[in-house]
Amino acid sequence: MQFKDVIGQQVVKERLIATVKEKRVAHTQLFLGPEGAGALPLALAFAQYINCPNKQDGESCGVCPSCVKYQKFSHPDLHFIFPTATNNKIKKNPESELFQEEWLAFLQENQGYVTQDTWYEALGIGNKQGTIYARDANQIVKLLGYKPYEAPYKVVIVFMAERLHLSASNKLLKSLEEPPENTLIILIAERYEMIIPTVRSRAQLVKVPPLSYSDVEQELLRRFPDEISVEKAREVAMLSSGNWNKARELFEQAEDDHYNFIKFREWMRLCFSGKDYGAIYELVQELSRLGREKQKKFLHYGLQVFHNSLFIQEGQTNLVMATEEEKDYLKKFAPYVNQANRQKMYELLNEAIYHIERNAHPGILFSDLSFQLGDCLQEGKKALQTGKV
Ligand SMILES: [Zn+2]
Repeated sequence: MQFKDVIGQQVVKERLIATVKEKRVAHTQLFLGPEGAGALPLALAFAQYINCPNKQDGESCGVCPSCVKYQKFSHPDLHFIFPTATNNKIKKNPESELFQEEWLAFLQENQGYVTQDTWYEALGIGNKQGTIYARDANQIVKLLGYKPYEAPYKVVIVFMAERLHLSASNKLLKSLEEPPENTLIILIAERYEMIIPTVRSRAQLVKVPPLSYSDVEQELLRRFPDEISVEKAREVAMLSSGNWNKARELFEQAEDDHYNFIKFREWMRLCFSGKDYGAIYELVQELSRLGREKQKKFLHYGLQVFHNSLFIQEGQTNLVMATEEEKDYLKKFAPYVNQANRQKMYELLNEAIYHIERNAHPGILFSDLSFQLGDCLQEGKKALQTGKV
């Protein structure tokens, strides 16, 4: 990674660059910052910068052989240690060495913006917490024993240093205190108090603050220019607390919510008229391709629409959590969900969720549901016309 690929953090970048220019790079450093602030991407950009033979003013060149390998995080003099646990592949004695391939793929996919939880998810370790074991510490000591292969600096990055087992910390003390020449050890951590004092005291602290709201906002607009408005980017940035991973999650959630709204509105319209079989078929096909989790979210969204319709019918508009666009729709839709069909409609969606969880065929499920909901909506319309709501 180059510094330009690291979101915000101008002050930290400048400070790191200055240590190189002034030849006072500490051999053991602790990059401490909350989740999503970018401590790991900063470490990666810094390591690439130190090793680039053609560094320009405050940036690695990005094209030399060293940079090219660093961009893929797979330079022979760059090593990673991280928390692991047993999973389907490694059933005993887990350690970083055994998961290098997964780790590199994970880093590349997320361009360095990874979190502890998403790593555990990628590793498939269930609800277990990962640990950095004494085995991993032995591996670091071994790696430090070799001379750099081709780079000026051998770099070891320890992700989530607070997960160091006490026995691993103790094994590392000597290496942290006096690493061999031309080595750089960067510990990445979120919680200072969870690292034992003997480790902390041996590393130079580099504090990485949460991202500023405007940095998050700018990055959202830069990455998703067609998908996000300035207002939405600002709102997401405020809610993210300066955590880029959180901002992405919120953005994706907002995208899904909007999709669900548009598609559910269209679906209800088609079910209600019940005449345009071609369009119903097409929509059913689209919903079938969504994947199980998204199908469930879509149906849950439908339940929420029915629920909000109830609030509107009862004049409790203040309880409706929805965007203005959704509220406009709900005002028109709500009267058709009434005494005559409400219970049946709830049941239909709940049953559908139940069957999706058990691998029902989505095409058949959504077609069947379309006709049943169509009947329900007609019932609702009849009740509305005869005043039996
Ligand atoms: Zn370079």
